Amino acid sequence: MNAPNVEKHEFQAEIKQLLDIVIHSLYTEKEIFVRELISNGSDALEKMRHLKLTEKNIFDDKLDLEVSISTDDTANTITIQDFGIGMTKEELVGNLGTIAHSGSKQFLQALKEGGDKSANLIGQFGVGFYSAFMVADQVKVYSRSWKEDETGHVWSSDGSGSYEIEEVEGQRRGTKIVLTLKEDAKQYASDSTIKEIIKRYSSFVQFPIKLNGEKVNTIDAIWLRGKSDIKDEEYTEFYKFQANAWDEPRYRLHFSADAPLAINALLFVPNENPERAGFGRIDPAVALYCRKVLIDSKPDELLPEWMRFTKGVVDSEDLPLNISRETMQDRALVQNLGRVITKRFLKFLAQEAKKRPEAYLEFFDKFGFFLKEGVAVDPTYKDELAKLLYFESSAQDKGNKTSLADYVSRMKDEQKEIYYIIGQNRESIESGPYLEGFKARGLEVLFLYEPVDEYVMSNLREYEEKTLVSADQGDLKLDDVPQPETEGSLSDDEAKGLCAWLKETIGDKVKEVKVSDRLVDSPAMALSPDAMSAQMRRMMRQMGQDNSMPAEVLFEINPRHQLMINLNKQREENEELAKLITLQAFDNSMIAAGLLEDPKDMVTRMYDILSRASETK
Ligand code: ADP
Ligand code: MG
Repeated sequence: MNAPNVEKHEFQAEIKQLLDIVIHSLYTEKEIFVRELISNGSDALEKMRHLKLTEKNIFDDKLDLEVSISTDDTANTITIQDFGIGMTKEELVGNLGTIAHSGSKQFLQALKEGGDKSANLIGQFGVGFYSAFMVADQVKVYSRSWKEDETGHVWSSDGSGSYEIEEVEGQRRGTKIVLTLKEDAKQYASDSTIKEIIKRYSSFVQFPIKLNGEKVNTIDAIWLRGKSDIKDEEYTEFYKFQANAWDEPRYRLHFSADAPLAINALLFVPNENPERAGFGRIDPAVALYCRKVLIDSKPDELLPEWMRFTKGVVDSEDLPLNISRETMQDRALVQNLGRVITKRFLKFLAQEAKKRPEAYLEFFDKFGFFLKEGVAVDPTYKDELAKLLYFESSAQDKGNKTSLADYVSRMKDEQKEIYYIIGQNRESIESGPYLEGFKARGLEVLFLYEPVDEYVMSNLREYEEKTLVSADQGDLKLDDVPQPETEGSLSDDEAKGLCAWLKETIGDKVKEVKVSDRLVDSPAMALSPDAMSAQMRRMMRQMGQDNSMPAEVLFEINPRHQLMINLNKQREENEELAKLITLQAFDNSMIAAGLLEDPKDMVTRMYDILSRASETK
């Protein structure tokens, strides 16, 4: 029978699902529950430390900020207690009974899709508390909020769908979690086992951890130590702890500076990019400290948004401990700090690109998107970022990438501009009509395949005073180049006459028809009348901006191509057929430009032409 003041609650459906997975299918690394519960205790202590700076009335104000753990191998229990901020009844319900974070949904999704049953994932998604149910068939959470006029409660559950909450007397501030261990998890009631686990996972916790009364961690701010006495393994352990990660970091930058601000920073780039793996947008994860005291674990104004792939800590003595987001002065200070760190980080990447190009290109493959985003959305660092971008190009084999600096070093003396083409992939660029004029002149063209590249190029505009120019742009003038003579090439006058006739035949869809100085092998091409590429137009159309297609395009022809030579004759001899062929050639060029909107007419016309071509005389 329940006591009258016991309230029974159902878990939210998603939590039920989550618990089911946690209890029934996460078999490996169960011990991580220790790390998760200590980390929750440490978070609560950190919040307490902050509150103490501003709040006068705190319940149980004299308690030490520490995590204390006790094991009992007779009763088969482990108890993890912290003197942090604690939880009110509402907070117990909200934090432990409902999906408070979007993380839980993503976690379920990731488990379903990836099938990775590694329990290590659990902390990544902000559902660490539930790891307790991997080892316990009874979890009791005693908690008392720091707010003076609250009371204590105990939350308890066996993980099977519901939980109970009851008021309790005499509770100290903070949270005490008592786990009654499952039959197959009794080893976690042993002092020596737990001690070993704490050493492995929680050695960087910034509060004392006591196990059965004895302090087991040395509080160490690794980022304040000298580089020479830190081993690689220590850095990696710290990264895993700090970023709650399971991979090895790809890059690490540990540096200190005295001016303009006193800074000790330790930054990491993870091995994998979770955004690319489909886990959604990542939160900033470079924590801000002042003399070892955590100020903000996810400061969103410290580093620019595109730096969100970095992990680590930044410690500055120049920050006030009770720093506030509200005062302009404090915000400016944090932003200044961020600028120094960002510049230093970009310098580091540039050095890496030079020293270990292969490793850098691998990094760029996985994380280059963030650098591009940096150029595309925020002009502050675009010059530094431009140096870090790599693209495929006509001068490189497929799969090889070049930097803008290398492109410039290969430029001919007379070349003033950097050319690029945006396309779906290398094949479609190479088979399109836009490249041939550049090839004939020995001009290198960068190949860009990602939608973000469009914004990168239009924001960058130039590199080392060389303008970046899209190769399918209408108003682009290339130097003359001797063109191969074909028999019967149209004379200037003939070509002019043909252009006028073509303009009349095609009508309103073209702004101008002229002889091209870019075409070599193709008969004709369509060009945008402005600098916006076809790729960009398609994107804008997808975003619902219908007026993004140009009303008129430029149509350029190749007077040495057999098709144009024939067409010029045909328009005298069989004008009707010549018109059909013209419209078809125009539509073909619109397809190559990615500008054709409706292929319906084209298909009908094509059949018409085919019927005529297949007529037997
Ligand atoms: P996360 O720690 O990533 O937020 P958890 O599942 O580990 O996710 O915890 C859920 C929430 O429960 C926490 O965000 C916190 O609000 C609350 N919580 C858990 N443990 C404690 C604790 N020891 N003291 C205070 N609040 C806690
Ligand atoms: Mg947690």
